[in-house]
Amino acid sequence: MAHRSGRHFLQIPGPTNVPDRVLRAMDRPTIDHRGPEFQALGRDVLAGIRPVFGTAQPVIIYPSSGTGAWEAAIVNTLSPGDRVLMFETGHFATLWRNLASKFGIECEFVPGDWRHGVDPATVEARLAEDRGHAIKAVMVVHNETSTGVTSRIPLIRKAIDRANHPALFLVDTISSLGSIDYRHDEWGVDVTVAGSQKGLMLPPGLGFNAVSQKALAAAKANRLPRSYWDWEDMLKANATGFFPYTPATNLLYGLKEAVAMLMEEGLANVFARHDRHAEATRRAVNAWGLEVLAADPAEFSSSLTAVVVPDGHDADRLRSVILERFDMSLGTGLGRLAGKVFRIGHLGDFNDLTLMGTLAGVEMGLRLTGIPHRAGGVAAAMEYLEFGNS
Ligand code: PLP
Repeated sequence: MAHRSGRHFLQIPGPTNVPDRVLRAMDRPTIDHRGPEFQALGRDVLAGIRPVFGTAQPVIIYPSSGTGAWEAAIVNTLSPGDRVLMFETGHFATLWRNLASKFGIECEFVPGDWRHGVDPATVEARLAEDRGHAIKAVMVVHNETSTGVTSRIPLIRKAIDRANHPALFLVDTISSLGSIDYRHDEWGVDVTVAGSQKGLMLPPGLGFNAVSQKALAAAKANRLPRSYWDWEDMLKANATGFFPYTPATNLLYGLKEAVAMLMEEGLANVFARHDRHAEATRRAVNAWGLEVLAADPAEFSSSLTAVVVPDGHDADRLRSVILERFDMSLGTGLGRLAGKVFRIGHLGDFNDLTLMGTLAGVEMGLRLTGIPHRAGGVAAAMEYLEFGNS
């Protein structure tokens, strides 16, 4: 392929653009992962990552993608035949359900329309019916990356408490951590699953489990075989800053830098920045006369926006024209949304002008592909970025 000048716009909802500071932090010789220099790095990252999850409890770091961290959450806490309550919020919730099923977990999968998040009232009603406490875990995807819908974790926690049910609460924050407000301890989550390649601004390759004391107790009791994912081995080695097998050393250098960047900006500011860019994006979509897939404003995602393309038009053709003409990648429609939506990632290392470039690319693409829309989306977003709600 011929060289293309300027930076590629990687505006899929993860992996996200890796900032230069993180790239430079990783550009180092790999060191002995059993030596004292590594030990200091290990201690730094294992402690430094906790505030990003809003936890004072252990966070386990695997050399894995997010799917590995999904699997780790299951094999450490659940046993074959255990019942769990899950919700069909979209493609990723479906994949997590499929993964759990492969381990013999019995998943009650509450059907959904891929436009809404988890309904706290349904959680409460379902758990209240389960008087024998057969349901061992409630498993929720915080931010459905396939739809741009964010489920309300604090309300779901309250629903579990109102039902007075002892189920574990497992939450996937793969496309929300470091982008959308999240508090593992305060919201009473037992296992938080995350990955490196989205809000944490790293390349793919790290998976995370933040674990509560209740989850650790469940892990001790549970019979499901595991080795690579075993929390116990990890925590034993982590206590001295080490890992039970070769860690992704250079990604850990990157993680240290990424956490420093999030802390310098301040997590509250990071979340507000994502909220603001998401709102500007939705204003652009509305001005174009197109539809945001997320149906409920209370569940709009701040890390991505899925945009519905009018019937008879192909979202993937729009994406390929934009890639070819403007060197920008947008997210494809996944599963049943294939061809029907495109997804704009506005998370990670991102600012006002990154958003304006992104939206300009989309508006030009809409024109070039003849997708019916009104002009003025870019102008509407600009107006919001300049003047806010005024
Ligand atoms: N869960 C969510 C919400 C995701 O967005 C993704 C990937 O995009 C995954 C799970 C799977 O993670 P990975 O592709 O890193 O294995």
